[in-house]
Amino acid sequence: MTSIHEHLAEQKRLAKELHAEGAGTPEAAADPLIGESADGMNRLVAALEAVIGMHFPYRGPGDRDTCGSEICSNMSWGPEPWPCPTIRSVEAALGGASDDPML
Ligand SMILES: [Zn+2]
Repeated sequence: MTSIHEHLAEQKRLAKELHAEGAGTPEAAADPLIGESADGMNRLVAALEAVIGMHFPYRGPGDRDTCGSEICSNMSWGPEPWPCPTIRSVEAALGGASDDPML
């Protein structure tokens, strides 16, 4: 299974390829949508990396794997088990399974 980080790295590579394609021919270079698409993809990847970077596995109370993020570790019912709802949501959106953390 592809990890979240591998998936995002692939998206960055595709955005770079799209940028190169945009610069490859005069017609493509003149199409602002190609450059805007690549820029938009890079911004989305950066935003997602910022979100998932806040969530990380942490050995919590009772020797349980929990999420060590500030938000997930301070729930009134105790820390969220790992993978936390944020990571599970990202995995689901990227087509991964929630039983096996993709990170
Ligand atoms: Zn979390």
